[in-house]
Amino acid sequence: MFGLAEKRRARLRARPFPNDWTAILDGVPLCRRLPREDFLELQGHVQVFLAEKRFEGAGGLAIDDAVRVTIAGQACVLLLHRASRSFPKLRSIIVYPGEYVAPLEEVDDNGFVIEDVESRSGESWAHGSLVLSWDDVLADLDDPFGELNVVLHEFAHQLDAETGEMNGCPPIAEPGLRADWAREMDSAYADHCRLVDRGRPTVLDPYGAEEPSEFYAVATEAFFQQPRRILAALPSLYDVLRRYYEQDPATWSLEEGRPPAESRGPGS
Ligand SMILES: [Zn+2]
Repeated sequence: MFGLAEKRRARLRARPFPNDWTAILDGVPLCRRLPREDFLELQGHVQVFLAEKRFEGAGGLAIDDAVRVTIAGQACVLLLHRASRSFPKLRSIIVYPGEYVAPLEEVDDNGFVIEDVESRSGESWAHGSLVLSWDDVLADLDDPFGELNVVLHEFAHQLDAETGEMNGCPPIAEPGLRADWAREMDSAYADHCRLVDRGRPTVLDPYGAEEPSEFYAVATEAFFQQPRRILAALPSLYDVLRRYYEQDPATWSLEEGRPPAESRGPGS
């Protein structure tokens, strides 16, 4: 079965990439910054992603190619260069027009469960679904070098969940990198939490102090969105992320990016 699935994916990756989709990817700053060969590899991943994942509009949002390709393009940046599978546990992406309200259960100091609601811009579940606010996805596009990228954040959680546990450590086959990852992530997370506890400025989004899985997700956003700043301020953390993602975004053009790519095929 695995062989058949891989053959099918190889055929999907080789399909001509529609010109309309290339134009959408070119409107996404993160995708436009990619080196040309990476952009071509990305198109193959996007073909597989869009063939295998189901998009569902919620709250009245109509799903069109702009929604699908904008989200798939950024998610698949996380797959480049690696022998990675296309988010194997993920089945469906639910997209709301804007922030949505979700039920929240909290336990207070006396052990009572308090039921409340909170607004969210995205969330990622280990059992097959991921939720995004389209307004928030668009806001990130308008701030190309800002530290936030909700798509990278939620899909980093999907990589994390591939081990069966969201704990800030995605599957890493190479023992040396696995050991370095654990050491660097633990140390950077502890430093980050210490600064947040003292109310001091932090390099990464303070939200990363919530738990190790959130720290990994915000570190992934910053690694791709503000690579030179992270390399300068947190070089050891940058290094394990560079080795894991097998990408070095600090070397990418950070200004206009490359000119729009030509399509690989006639398009459809
Ligand atoms: Zn998160």
